[in-house]
Order: sequence, then C-alpha cells, then structure tokens
Amino acid sequence: MLRTTALSHTFGGHKRPVRALDGVCLTLAPGEVRCVAGSSGSGKSTLLRCLLGLLQPDEGEVLWRDVPLHTMNRGQRLAFRQAVQPVMQDPASSLAPRMRVRTQLREPLRIQRSCSRDQEDKRVDEALEQVGLERALGRRFPHQLSGGQQQRVAIARALIVQPTVLLVDEPTSALDAVVAMQIALLLRDLVERLGLTLLAVTHDPTLPHHLGATVDQMAAGRLVGQVSAAQWLAQARAAWQGLRAIPE
Ligand code: ADP
Ligand code: MG
Repeated sequence: MLRTTALSHTFGGHKRPVRALDGVCLTLAPGEVRCVAGSSGSGKSTLLRCLLGLLQPDEGEVLWRDVPLHTMNRGQRLAFRQAVQPVMQDPASSLAPRMRVRTQLREPLRIQRSCSRDQEDKRVDEALEQVGLERALGRRFPHQLSGGQQQRVAIARALIVQPTVLLVDEPTSALDAVVAMQIALLLRDLVERLGLTLLAVTHDPTLPHHLGATVDQMAAGRLVGQVSAAQWLAQARAAWQGLRAIPE
C-alpha cells in the first residue's frame, strides 16, 4: 500500500552533513500494524516526513498504491493526503493553541468542502466519540486539556477525514506510563474498529507490545532488523538493568 525504495536523506550543507536516512526500504501492507523503533536522533521523524511527502528524499522514492509521490497529479495528491494522515510528535505543539477543539476538528472538512455544516458537526461528534472524549470537551482550548486528552484530540483530527493509514510520531513520549498505555490501547482499538493501517515510530519500550506490532529497529538512519514486541521490551529492560547496576 505504502512503500519506499531505498530512501536516503541528508540534512545540512557541505560542512557538517547529517545522513538522517540511509537506504530505508519499508513496506506497509493493508491492515498492518508496525512500529519503527529507535533511539532519539535515529531518523524516525525524518522517515515519517518523507512518507508524508513533506520532505523530499535525496535518493529513493515513496510509493502510494504503486504511484511515486513526486509524480502525482493534483487529484492523486489530494486523495493521498486524505488517505494517509499524520499524528505528529507532541500534541501540545501540533494543536492550534487559539482554536477551540471543535473548530480545529472541523477545519480539515472545511478545506475539503465535502460536507454541509450539519454533516461537519456530525463528523466532529463522531470523531470525539471514537477517541473517547465527551462532546463538551469540544468547547475547550488545547491548554485546558490534559496531555492524554490533547493526544486524543490530535488523533481525532487525523480521523476526521476518514483515512485508511495513520502515521504516528512518538504518540506516547510526552505522557506518563498509565496515560501512555491508554493511548496505545486506543490506537489498537481504532485499528481494529476502523480497519486502519498503522505505522508508529517510537522509542517507547512498551508501545509495540500494547499495539501488538512487529518492530523494525532503526539506528543511525538505517533499518537494522526486525524483532518481536517482546524482544524489544526485553532489550529495553536489559539496558535499564545495566544502568541501574552502576554503583552510585
Ligand atoms: P528521531 O525522530 O529519531 O529523533 P530525526 O529524524 O528527528 O530523529 O533526526 C535524525 C537526524 O537528523 C538527527 O541527527 C537530527 O539532528 C537531524 N535532523 C533532523 N531534522 C533536521 C533539520 N531540519 N536540519 C538539520 N538536521 C536535522
Ligand atoms: Mg522524532
């Protein structure tokens, strides 16, 4: 459905170039739930931005239903933008601070001009319900919400245009452990209920486990192998115990 041929991307000029992506081949099949997991700076966000067409790779291409993103015509591009929705890292900064929740949920529908005001309201109510938020919360501004509620709004905003694929950047990194688990389980539930395809990039040891996802490990811009969610968790535990073993 969504795939890449050896993607590479380098930031910076000639002086200190950073090869953020280095030959990344990834295939996302319909209905698949996948995590790309790696430490901070390994290139996860850069990969997502390339997959969304927000950043041009230096080498390789991203294909949506076998059409390279950079060759798409206007109609194909609009269809791609509707079908593949991002949930960006850090909901607090990805939501518009001065817009009430309802208004920012309605915004993508306004732009599409695909439905009437009544239909827009219905879609907004539906999206709020899908992410487990009460309608009354729609009247609030983002700063009047908890971190978990903000993340739910960010997910609702992605769902509002009825996508088939969600690309999610570190959905749990700004949240405490319990709320992080609730968000992970919400994503899993949405995948099942709506038949979505999901790719989440993360450094959270538990997210792949809660999502029931396989894990592609990423390091220094490369995919370095696949492990199960259980193996990924065990590796993180071992690393943590190694740290704790250091005497004070
Ligand atoms: P991750 O999301 O895994 O933490 P990123 O994809 O954000 O990693 O970054 C990968 C590498 O690319 C890092 O070394 C980062 O410093 C660098 N990088 C990311 N964005 C930019 C940018 N806009 N300009 C220069 N370097 C960048
Ligand atoms: Mg990142």
